[in-house]
Amino acid sequence: MKILVINAGSSSLKYQLMDMDNESILAKGICERIGIDGLFTYKPQVEGKTQIKAEPVSMPTHSEAIQAVLNALVDAENGVVASMEEIDACGHRVLHGGMEFTASCIVDDACEEAIKKCFPLGPLHNPANLMGIKACQAVMPGTPQVAVFDTAFHMTMPAPAYTYAIPYEYYENDQVRRYGFHGTSHRYVSARAIDMLGNPEHSKVICCHLGNGSSLSACIDGKCVDTTMGLGPLAGVPMGTRCGDIDGTIIEYLMGRYGYSIEEMMNILNKKSGVLGISGVSSDFRDLEAAASAGNERAQLALDKFHYEVRKDIGAYAAAMGGCDAIVFTAGVGENGAKDRAEICKGLEYMGVKICPERNAIREDEHLISTDDSPVKVFVIATNEELMIARDTKELVSK
Ligand code: ADP
Repeated sequence: MKILVINAGSSSLKYQLMDMDNESILAKGICERIGIDGLFTYKPQVEGKTQIKAEPVSMPTHSEAIQAVLNALVDAENGVVASMEEIDACGHRVLHGGMEFTASCIVDDACEEAIKKCFPLGPLHNPANLMGIKACQAVMPGTPQVAVFDTAFHMTMPAPAYTYAIPYEYYENDQVRRYGFHGTSHRYVSARAIDMLGNPEHSKVICCHLGNGSSLSACIDGKCVDTTMGLGPLAGVPMGTRCGDIDGTIIEYLMGRYGYSIEEMMNILNKKSGVLGISGVSSDFRDLEAAASAGNERAQLALDKFHYEVRKDIGAYAAAMGGCDAIVFTAGVGENGAKDRAEICKGLEYMGVKICPERNAIREDEHLISTDDSPVKVFVIATNEELMIARDTKELVSK
C-alpha cells in the first residue's frame, strides 16, 4: 500500500510518499510560496532518479501544488510510481481537532465540518490543513483522505490538567481548555520509549519535543496525562519565537503603554519572542550557541532560560506522575543538541537522572544517553510524525 502524507501550511505544503509494505520513503519534498510565485522541490529516494530543487512552478492555490506533486511522482523519467492509481490514500496532518477528535479519522462531510468548527481554535493552521485536503480531493477524486490531529493524543488528559482556572462557562460554552500539540510526535516517541524500556506493565515517561516549537508531555502507560502547550501552541516552555507561559498582565500592560492592537500584541508573542526575543540574535539554537560562545550574554541568557524552563517542567511532570521511568529528547534541538540535553538534565540527579557524557555526545536515531546505573533512563529518539500519519492512514483505510 502506498500512502501520500501531506502537511499543508498557508503557503507551503510538505509531502512524503511512503510504501507501507516496508515503511520506506519513495519520495518527499515541499511546495513553497503557494499563492505567491511557487517553488517546487522533489527528492526521490530511489536510486538513479533526479531531484528537483526549488524550481519555479506556478501554484496559485494548493490544488496546483498537489498537481505538481502528482506530476513529479508519476513522471516517466524521475517518478517513483507508474500512475496515480497506485496511491491508495492520503494522510493529512491537521493541527486542531478540538474536543471532537480523540483519534485519526477518514475525512467525510462530518469530519470536514468538525475541522471547520475548529478554525477559531487553530486560525493559523486549520484553514490551510483543510485546503490541503480539498486540493487532494479535487486532484485525486475517490482516493480516501485521512485526518491526523496534533491534539488527539492529548485528549486522555484528566480534567485537573486540562482545565483553566477561569470562569467555567468558557469551557462549557467556548471549549476553552488545554489541548496540547505535537501529539503525533509525542505518541510516536512515547511508544518507542516504552519499547526501549522493555515494555513494562506500568511506565511513566516524560517526552521533550524540542524544535522550533517545543512542548513536553507526561505519559502514564503510553497515555498523555499532561502537556505544556495549551488552547494554542503559544504556551509552555519558551520557543524559537514564541513566548511560552507568561503572565497575562504583560499583555494588558504593554498594550496600554504602546497602544498595540491585539493583533500586534499576538504577533510579538508569536513571532518576536522566545529565544529570539531574549537574545535579539536568532531563533535558531545553532546561532545562539555560536553567539554565546563568542561572548554574547543575551544569547547565553536565552539558552539558560530555555534549559531552565524545560528542566522545571520535567520536575513538574515527575511530581504530577509520582515518579518517572524515562525522559525522551526529540525534534531538532532534542535530537541534535547534546549540550542542550546536558544542560537541561543538570541538577536532576536528585530524581535519579544520570547522563553519560560519552553516550550523550553520540548522534544516533535512537539511543540511551543515561548511565547504566541511572534509575531514570534518558533516551534520544528521532521523531517520525510522517510515519505515524501513514500508519494511521493505512489502518483506517484497511478497515
Ligand atoms: P520544527 O519545529 O520547525 O520542526 P525542528 O524540529 O527541525 O523544528 O528543530 C529546529 C531547531 O533545531 C532549530 O532551532 C535548530 O537550530 C535546532 N538544531 C538543529 N541542529 C542542532 C544542533 N546540532 N544543536 C542544537 N540545535 C540544533
